[in-house]
Amino acid sequence: MATERLATEFGGIGETNGRVPAFDSRAFEVETQAIGRRLYAAAGSHKPRLYQGVSGWLLRGTMEDASLRTALFEFVDALPQLASQRDIAEHLAAYLTSTQAGGWRKFLLRLAANPGLAWLARAAVRRLADQFLVAETPGALDLAATRLACVPALLAVDAVGEAVLSEAEAARYLDRNRAILGWLAQRGQTPHLSLKLTGLTGVFDPLDRRGTRQRVFQRVAPLIVEACRCHAMLTVDMEHYELKPLILDLFLEMLEAWPDPAWQPGIALQAYLPETERDVERLLAAAQRYGRRIGVRLVKGAYWDQEAAWAAQRGWPRPTLTEKAATDAHFERLAGSLLAHADTLHPAIASHNLRSQAVALAQARRLGLPPDRWEAQMLLGMAEPLRDALAAAGAPLRIYVPIGDPVIGMAYLIRRLLENTASTSILRQSYIAGAGLDTLLAAPSLARGQAAPAAVKAPANLPLIDFSRPEEQASFAAALQDIRAALPQRVPLPGAVGIPSVHAIRNPAQPAEILGEAALADTAYADGLVDRAVAAFPQWRSQPVPQRVQLLRRASDQLALRRREFAALEVLSVAKNWREADADVAEAVDFLRYYANEMERCAGWRETVGFPGEQNRMRYEPRGLALIVAPWNFPLAILAGMTAAALAAGNCAIMKPALPGLLLAEEFHRLLLAAGFPGEVCQLLPADADVAAHLVAHPCVQVIAFTGSHQVGLSILQAAHTATAAQTHVKQVICEMGGKNAIIVDRDADLDEAVAGILASAFGYAGQKCSACSRVIAVDEVHDRLLARLADAAAALSWGAPEDGTCAHGPLISEAARDKALAYIEIGRAEGRLVWQGKVPETGWYVPPTLFAGIKPEHRLAREEIFGPVLAAMRAENFAAALALAQDCDYALTGGVYSRFPPHLALAQNSFSVGNLYLNRKITGARVGVQPFGGFNLSGTGVQAGGPDYLKQFMWSRVVSANTIRHGFIP
Ligand code: NAD
Repeated sequence: MATERLATEFGGIGETNGRVPAFDSRAFEVETQAIGRRLYAAAGSHKPRLYQGVSGWLLRGTMEDASLRTALFEFVDALPQLASQRDIAEHLAAYLTSTQAGGWRKFLLRLAANPGLAWLARAAVRRLADQFLVAETPGALDLAATRLACVPALLAVDAVGEAVLSEAEAARYLDRNRAILGWLAQRGQTPHLSLKLTGLTGVFDPLDRRGTRQRVFQRVAPLIVEACRCHAMLTVDMEHYELKPLILDLFLEMLEAWPDPAWQPGIALQAYLPETERDVERLLAAAQRYGRRIGVRLVKGAYWDQEAAWAAQRGWPRPTLTEKAATDAHFERLAGSLLAHADTLHPAIASHNLRSQAVALAQARRLGLPPDRWEAQMLLGMAEPLRDALAAAGAPLRIYVPIGDPVIGMAYLIRRLLENTASTSILRQSYIAGAGLDTLLAAPSLARGQAAPAAVKAPANLPLIDFSRPEEQASFAAALQDIRAALPQRVPLPGAVGIPSVHAIRNPAQPAEILGEAALADTAYADGLVDRAVAAFPQWRSQPVPQRVQLLRRASDQLALRRREFAALEVLSVAKNWREADADVAEAVDFLRYYANEMERCAGWRETVGFPGEQNRMRYEPRGLALIVAPWNFPLAILAGMTAAALAAGNCAIMKPALPGLLLAEEFHRLLLAAGFPGEVCQLLPADADVAAHLVAHPCVQVIAFTGSHQVGLSILQAAHTATAAQTHVKQVICEMGGKNAIIVDRDADLDEAVAGILASAFGYAGQKCSACSRVIAVDEVHDRLLARLADAAAALSWGAPEDGTCAHGPLISEAARDKALAYIEIGRAEGRLVWQGKVPETGWYVPPTLFAGIKPEHRLAREEIFGPVLAAMRAENFAAALALAQDCDYALTGGVYSRFPPHLALAQNSFSVGNLYLNRKITGARVGVQPFGGFNLSGTGVQAGGPDYLKQFMWSRVVSANTIRHGFIP
């Protein structure tokens, strides 16, 4: 009975040992309060070191002034990259300019921004870092351990540093950890190490489960051997939510792979995730299965804001609890259940919250847990008075000690500072805001707690599939199987006269495999489609807008339902990896919905302005027949987008997809007809370029919506604007063309972010995106370091058949595309210096990813669109020179800048003149309505798809002005 009640009280997790006293929640609360009061009294009026002296002065400043807080955090974030005193001073001054802070705090900070005194800023931050971080030397670690022994407290060590993006960096992370283990073992205490599994491999990808496991296990193996020798505890850190399933799985598989009880396994769990209870159950079951005690470090969770933003960006439900009080309550519940299972698990209750620790202590006492059965954990440098009070109360204590270069460990430092100064921070409440004891000890309650944070407003786009979830992986694998079972597919040519020529659609990863065949139309057939459309137009244009948009919405719903089937077909026929294929289908759905909404916005007569004596009204009307000429690289999204806009506007559409996209286009066409579009309003033209060119010149075509290369685009513009005698209108040509996009890397850039962003932009879909990065322009100071990291990180990427979900990078679309990219590699060898080249499978139209340096503005590699995984690096003397190089280009599609210097970001915003400029993020992956997409100069006619101006290009506007004056009187 008692067991049952306890289990219910603490979330009903697993079985308890049956020896615990009955749980009386009221008595327990009284005991918690009493312990809390005693802890508080013992902690007395001491302030943690952080809140004293210069750091306390600064932290108080940041709490009083949000703009100062942002400015200083951004400055500290950039500091590791700042080499010279001048750099430091300039950055500090630039960040302070954006604050409203006044008074002597600002005055003194301004003083520190003087180049002669910049060392002061660096020294101050270093001093701050010293409180949270221990230098990576045996001596420093020894000293820290000795100091902590006086508390008394044990330590858990965490090697912090730059993000691991390559196997070389992962090897270094492993070496650091082995060395730390050795130092700790020499001290004669049981070493306790925190380990990031993502640090053990350059690519930690939930979709590449097998590969990730293999790489992680290969690296963790020697560490576990060492851990067995010195009986160490290895605690696996929990990271972002998306990685959690794989991290947890790998941890459990480690238990199975290394059953030697000489090493002690542990894992961190986050209380801000409601699903953590299920994870505790899994751990309990595993502990029982393997007969081992598993350490569980319970934390509240460190990625709160980021998880909320990422989930909103992808359209996924927010994985965390939304309120601080709910997390606190969940933490207490989880701590209770972990402590109740202290015979099977080893709970480590990690918190700086007086109440949370009081609850844990009360619970441990109630259960009569000896000190070796559980522990309280706190971070180095935080809430020392509470730490000392807990130690004095007999709580077994462990201090989490980050170790590493204090300058590189800035990201860690920022997190700690944020934690200390967030308005919900218990530290801030207790030591700065002077919250009373009752407030600090009150049970977390939603009504009393902070107001719920405003929900992050997410765009209305279709959420992408979360492939980190095993069930999603299985369901996509099944969709691929279904598609395979339905091969080969056929694209017929209904009503064709004679025997049409046939085009075989091949699998780019396996060119011998024919996925389907399409009968191709000739010009006579195409003319027939035009005649039908012209005849259907008057009826279609008179359809009320609500009916038209309803058809689009129905089609979008159908497509959303069948998204996996379409995406699977993309994987096979145009060699997109799973995530990219899904993103293309989702974008198609978004376009259908977006233009339906836009058409509603544009529909009907509207008054231009109030004009006395006249009524002036305007409306948009469809132009007539639209020819949609689409590329193969976003075979569904771009085709669907252009078609949806044409149809929403009331035009008839003839869709001319590129040949590799024919299977998808055929399926999509059928879906549109099933949604209710009349057959003659929306027609498919499976044809080659000559037939398309014939229709471009057709006198009855009113609109040509084209996306493709600039050569073809320019030829279409010319042909369309050469009127023939039979043509009685000026054709509207909407042209989206190529790019030669550059990413600038400034000297203060966050290289962790830049390397990941550049690789995703340059090699995603093997470089076959119009938005792809094909030039990286690095400012002199970072050039060499950036290239070295890029080459190392690129080497970690996997190339292979996209059908196998583990391969993120596939072949090019065709033999011709491959040969063209290979030819550019030869040109690159002559023009520049080969820095790195990857390996790719032999079968299939693969091109090895290649990085060249020493490319000059006049080189072909700097000027021509390649459409393959070839990246040209250019060196610039300074940021202004980098900007000039980036702009020295005929195209103007996308561009990117990695910098942490506000004046440079502002300069780029104003003068890096491209359609889509991305600051401190990758330059591909625009979302409909969020980032309207398209370029100018040779990249396009300048109106962006998925934006508010696009649809109007498919219509013309008419104005009717009526005189309303009747004999001097206006009725
Ligand atoms: P492409 O220009 O070879 O072909 C595009 C389409 O035009 C195909 O359907 C093709 O059959 C048709 N076509 C070819 N010659 C024609 C002619 N003379 N008259 C009429 N139609 C003709 O381009 P692609 O290889 O399919 O696609 C890759 C190109 O598209 C790259 O240059 C890329 O940058 C560009 N692109 C641009 C955007 C953008 O939004 N700006 C998006 C995707 C792709």
